[in-house]
Amino acid sequence: MASGDASEVVEKPLVFRLHEGAPEVVREVLLERGWVEYDEQEQEEGDWNLYWRSSTFRSCDFDNILPWQRLNHHPKTMGITRKDNLARNLKRMKGIFGPSLYDFSPIAFILPNDYTKFVAEYTKDRYANGGKPGYWICKPVDLSRGRGIFIFEDIQDLAYDSPVIVQKYISNPLLISGYKLDLRIYVCVSSFHPLTVYMYQEGLVRFATEKYKLTSLNNLLAHLTNTSINKFGPAYTMDKERVGPGCKWTMSKFRCFLHSQNIDEILLWQRINNIVTLTLLTIAPSIPPTPNCIELFGFDILIDDNFKPWLLEVNYSPALSLDCPTDVTVKTGLLYDLVDLLNYKKMDSERQSGYLKQWYKGPRYLSTQSLGSGNALVVHPKAMYKPKEHIDLTHNKSFSHSSVYKQNSNKEAHSESIATKGCSTSCDSRTQMYAYNREDGTEASRPNICWDTKKCPVLSKEPAQVQWAISTTNKKTSAVSTQAVSQNKERLGAARKRPSLKQSSLGHCKLPSIHIQRYKPASFPWNSKANENIRPQSRVGDFILTFPFNEATYKASRSTINVKIAVQEVQKLIKRLVSSELHKVKRRKAGSFSDSICSSKECVGPLLWGPKDPPLLSDCCSHTIND
Ligand code: ADP
Repeated sequence: MASGDASEVVEKPLVFRLHEGAPEVVREVLLERGWVEYDEQEQEEGDWNLYWRSSTFRSCDFDNILPWQRLNHHPKTMGITRKDNLARNLKRMKGIFGPSLYDFSPIAFILPNDYTKFVAEYTKDRYANGGKPGYWICKPVDLSRGRGIFIFEDIQDLAYDSPVIVQKYISNPLLISGYKLDLRIYVCVSSFHPLTVYMYQEGLVRFATEKYKLTSLNNLLAHLTNTSINKFGPAYTMDKERVGPGCKWTMSKFRCFLHSQNIDEILLWQRINNIVTLTLLTIAPSIPPTPNCIELFGFDILIDDNFKPWLLEVNYSPALSLDCPTDVTVKTGLLYDLVDLLNYKKMDSERQSGYLKQWYKGPRYLSTQSLGSGNALVVHPKAMYKPKEHIDLTHNKSFSHSSVYKQNSNKEAHSESIATKGCSTSCDSRTQMYAYNREDGTEASRPNICWDTKKCPVLSKEPAQVQWAISTTNKKTSAVSTQAVSQNKERLGAARKRPSLKQSSLGHCKLPSIHIQRYKPASFPWNSKANENIRPQSRVGDFILTFPFNEATYKASRSTINVKIAVQEVQKLIKRLVSSELHKVKRRKAGSFSDSICSSKECVGPLLWGPKDPPLLSDCCSHTIND
């Protein structure tokens, strides 16, 4: 094995560090992308690029972060990820900006503190209902996966022994063939300062597995859509009318469904965008400006039978276990795109050159040659690193539907961890598409945004840069998913054989701190003063930039976010949506519904789904939803 021979200079692989209980799929995807796993026995303390935890980081982890490192959480996001904090923050925003803007979350009370207020509201509601009590849902503030939840009508049935929130129960949910559903929307905040938000186009639709009836409030299999509950229900494996077996659809399939029903899904997505933005604005100013953090949130959205989306909660570490082909499709794709969103540059792989400069003045041992494309750095076979003997190459659990994934005790992260019995919801060819694109390097460069379409006319005309995720190969669901699984296994096997990192010659050197002036985090445009004006990419894979969404919000978020301006811009957007809705209703009355969908698109223009408008579902979805 070479050790520092200048003729064998190589690119170093990126290194990830997983905390105990981190989702297995994170490891699998990173290994597949050519990363190596951190081993504290062999590597220097700061010799890693990404540290992934399902639970929170300690404040010293944020303080001591080095230029080439990323953490998968921002500090202090509990302001939206704990049910009581979320209720409190949304109420505060309602007070400042008015109830009509922040009307997307069911009214909630934190008990025991708000008990009197709850009784007053309960009574008012009952009177308004002609004496009949309304429906309420009681949820422990810090539990997840449906644990401890119950629905009640009569206040006498309300009992709790820990802090809870009592929330108005949305009793008229959208049903598909009688089954309740909600949406899991993945949102990545790549920075809070400036606020930069990406929404993932693909996602999950989670179904209850028994038919919805208000006469059986105790039947959680009909009223809760948590997979962790429904996968144990007797109907889980059954082929349920229209829904199929299992309890999940991809978002693409849901959009096909909406489209088949002549429903304006674009309007719905824009409303969900607004919910995400307005929710994040509640905490954005209070998040300390910590560099190099990125966070994936899971927003749970319920749609009622008027197609109004409601925010139920925000998940801190959304479940990433792979229970069924739908999970494989959505979550592996999600992580692939997240890796790209992390925006690692070649120089991040040279993380130790900092102390090389201090310690070893000889020839550089790192290659300046750019390897791979995009962010996927390839490991040179003649690396100076020793193979990691202890890696178990046979221990590849990737994408196995029968794997039991270890999860930790934080929020959602450990949910949905048990083997699935069957789930034949749509699984498109996405995983394959990813493999092809990444190896082929076709996604290597994406332009930055210019919102002013006059200055940048190309952007208003160009087709979407990235292939739309929905594929007509959905028809071959099980075949495709099996193939994707085995291909992934093969590729993951290859990834595992790559040499690992061992920094023997530099074993005792200390890495420089980010706070030492000469080591500025130059690789992160959003953190670097010199690159202050670089705009975030409009889309990265299926992540679509949803904030900032125009010039005004871009300016309002440059340094400390100006929440007032940002909210005003969302308000303007909502006004335009509402007026386009009215316009549509008029046209519908006049008998031209399809024209009205186009008119709403024109009206909202490039703001839909972020600055770049993806193709309409009708352009790319030719199969039926029952595939
Ligand atoms: P958990 O963190 O335990 O999953 P959630 O708030 O997400 O708690 O609620 C679990 C499920 O209960 C949701 O996925 C949804 O199906 C249902 N649910 C929660 N709140 C409401 C509500 N206000 N109205 C209707 N259904 C709700």
